[in-house]
Amino acid sequence: MAKSKSVQSVKGMHDILPEGQSYWKFVYKKGSNLVDDYGFNKIDTPIVESSQLFLRSVGEETDIVSKEMYNFKTRGGDEISLRPENTAGVARAYIEHGMSSWPHPVKLWYWGPMFRHDQPQAGRYRQFYQFGTEIFGDDNPAADAESIFVALGFLGSLGFKNLTLKINSIGDQNCRPHYLKVLKEFLKSKAKQLCAQCKVRAKENPLRVLDCKEESCRALFKEAPQLIDHLDENCRNHFKKVIEFLDEIKAPYMLDPFLVRGLDYYTHTVFEIILEENAKTAELEEGKAATDVAGLKGLALVAGGRYNGLVSLLGGPKTPAVGWATGIERIILAMKNLGLKVPETKSQPKIFLAQLGDFAKRKSLVLFEELRKAGINASTSLGRDSIKAQLRIANRLKVKFSVIIGHKEAIDKTAILREMDSGIQEIIPMEGIIEAVKKRLKS
Ligand code: AMP
Repeated sequence: MAKSKSVQSVKGMHDILPEGQSYWKFVYKKGSNLVDDYGFNKIDTPIVESSQLFLRSVGEETDIVSKEMYNFKTRGGDEISLRPENTAGVARAYIEHGMSSWPHPVKLWYWGPMFRHDQPQAGRYRQFYQFGTEIFGDDNPAADAESIFVALGFLGSLGFKNLTLKINSIGDQNCRPHYLKVLKEFLKSKAKQLCAQCKVRAKENPLRVLDCKEESCRALFKEAPQLIDHLDENCRNHFKKVIEFLDEIKAPYMLDPFLVRGLDYYTHTVFEIILEENAKTAELEEGKAATDVAGLKGLALVAGGRYNGLVSLLGGPKTPAVGWATGIERIILAMKNLGLKVPETKSQPKIFLAQLGDFAKRKSLVLFEELRKAGINASTSLGRDSIKAQLRIANRLKVKFSVIIGHKEAIDKTAILREMDSGIQEIIPMEGIIEAVKKRLKS
């Protein structure tokens, strides 16, 4: 009979194996400690939301909603989506739980998987984790600067050094319409030279045209009107103050007039943090062979901005807000490529517990629990009955000692303590075994 093909993970979605967990643990710990210190509280929202939430907030013409969202119809006929991002979900929760009556600002953080049916490549997946913060109820430019400061602090705590903060202001509902008019006229005059995608976007979402990565389009945009020249006084002042704060904290920023962000709900400040083009890998600094970071250069590690229009768009009270998000897989890939190391956290047993026969098995279970209580990480393979096979596992686990309980030892209330390298064995009374193990592990 033909062997049936094994089932694989879904394209663009990955397992995080035990040996990869050290990075995940480290990044989570650094991130959660940092945001705790800055007074943010954690919020978990469902992975699935009503599709309407994203249609109304992120916007129907955005790539995220129009091309990348996983949409389903439930058995009851509800239209639901796997969340492609979490700001909309957190804003929904802010409204639903009456957070507008909480002391402001309301500072929240989240960590969890997001889903986008994107083209998978290095640093871009269909399921990826995002970590991010949101500040609700503070329209002061200091809140924009605080968000940026926390994001930079997070990357700094992981060991990233060569970072660039790209920043721009996209104005608000008062000044953006005027700019869009000027931009549309410009795009019309260049219509023939635009790439196919830009031709469509020029009609549907002209601001997004400026986001195009095609070289020929980018060359055209050098002459394009810049949003920053069309900001009204309020928006200009807001942006100026954000920049002053960034100067104060010596943030490595670069004004990018064409940074627009793909989501509709942004107002005022938008920013991205990227790895600098000349980001050196630790290996390069040590004079070893270069590691390929190329796939990640230019890709945003963090992206965020102000979204004063979102809460009211979703039916809540007018609430200024600002936030950012980072992709954890992308962060970890960049850390590995740059040679940024983390402490190994994979569970490493100190001793192995081998047993022979049912009676010994019962005694082993009791001893296993006593070892755990004494803080000694032990491993065992209770399903196996051959001592030889069990000791082979002990060797593979690289433990220094094994405790062996056979039928005779179980009856005599003793255990054998075996040093794995030398094979030297000692018979020890059961009541003294914990102390004996502790002593041997110390020496
Ligand atoms: P966005 O929600 O698009 O503003 O993205 C915020 C951050 O999430 C980016 O800077 C990336 O670090 C990360 N990110 C976005 N899309 C993906 C993806 N498809 N795969 C992995 N990380 C992503």
